[in-house]
Amino acid sequence: MEIETALAKGRRSRQARVVWGERVITVGGDAPVRVQSMTNTDTADAIGTAIQVKELALAGSEMVRLTVNTPEAAQAVPYIREQLDRMGIDVPLIGDFHYNGHRLLTDIPACAQALSKYRINPGNVGKGDKHDKQFGLMIEAAVRWDKPVRIGVNWGSLDQELLASLMDENSRRSAPWGAKPVMYEALISSAIESAERAVEMGMNRNQVLLSCKVSGVQDLVSVYRELARRCDYPLHLGLTEAGMGTKGAVASATALAILLQEGIGDTIRVSLTPQPGESRTQEVVIACEILQALELRSFVPSVTACPGCGRTTSTVFQELTKQIEDFLRAQMPLWRKKYPGVEKLKVAVMGCIVNGPGESKQADIGISLPGTGEAPAAPVFIDGEKRMTLRGEGIAQEFQKIVENYVETRFGTPVAAIAL
Ligand code: SF4
Repeated sequence: MEIETALAKGRRSRQARVVWGERVITVGGDAPVRVQSMTNTDTADAIGTAIQVKELALAGSEMVRLTVNTPEAAQAVPYIREQLDRMGIDVPLIGDFHYNGHRLLTDIPACAQALSKYRINPGNVGKGDKHDKQFGLMIEAAVRWDKPVRIGVNWGSLDQELLASLMDENSRRSAPWGAKPVMYEALISSAIESAERAVEMGMNRNQVLLSCKVSGVQDLVSVYRELARRCDYPLHLGLTEAGMGTKGAVASATALAILLQEGIGDTIRVSLTPQPGESRTQEVVIACEILQALELRSFVPSVTACPGCGRTTSTVFQELTKQIEDFLRAQMPLWRKKYPGVEKLKVAVMGCIVNGPGESKQADIGISLPGTGEAPAAPVFIDGEKRMTLRGEGIAQEFQKIVENYVETRFGTPVAAIAL
């Protein structure tokens, strides 16, 4: 019996476009799942923000969201855009609005124009009579400037009036739902009803994206499955407030992988709390790794490495793995342009003879280091063939050079034969 490969089944969503200048990013439909991130600088600090946006973009973020919370922040947006354009960074910017977005988008048209997309949180656009009016002003700006919007619901700022009305309705049921299903319904209704209202106000249906972020893995899976069932808008996916370090990375990866494997999610963000001193780009690295691990996209060459065990007691193998990983990642901003397709490269760094040669043969290029008690020699395999054996102190440098040569030969000059 043939075993089926478990590739993600695509949910058909509409296709939206996020544009800046010449750069057009398609989202949804058949487009690849896109990586987003968000700055944590004060947006009014235009230079600091432009630098962080550049870092995020170079790390692989295809859209970057900024907080736009004050007139100063809104006034800085066109200047940030200008700085990025000057640096050759054409990543689209998304404005994140809460409470006063209607005023900022109306009063500061240069901000509305410089952004490529607006995030609108229907829970934070005003209460009572003001809600519809202020939401309408934001949609008016999006229509005027021809910008897509994301209706981004978050259970930390859920529309309380909607929630109260759904709870009332629930209490009148003969068999009332539990608190969680009511909360899920409130999140989903808030997103879909707001989107429909935006369309009624003149928004192009193909320029509306939705999200319903929660901080629990099982809650996120339940909410997005239902959201995906009930609409065909492209969905932005992310576990909100995922936390710090390993916990945040694992929780995000777990939640996103379940949904992406079901074909749910058109853009993703990993909402990681940075460790003190940690680069903001870590959330982009993890988002890319999730998509790459699911074989949905390739961003950087992958390094297969064994965990090590009692057969390799020296740290040489760990150091070489780290060195090669860091080297490949550091090269990518340049290699991405110079060597198309290099992101699919597979490198293996293995600790001993048990699985080393076998795993190295499966990679494009692999090295099997000597385990404890083995002869001090490291065979190198290229395209499945043993090509050479490295010995002595300079194995790491020599192997790195071999990888560089391979990349240059295979991806730099497609018609040339590989000669190492
Ligand atoms: S390849 Fe060798 S060193 Fe690595 S985990 Fe397997 S047995 Fe241990």
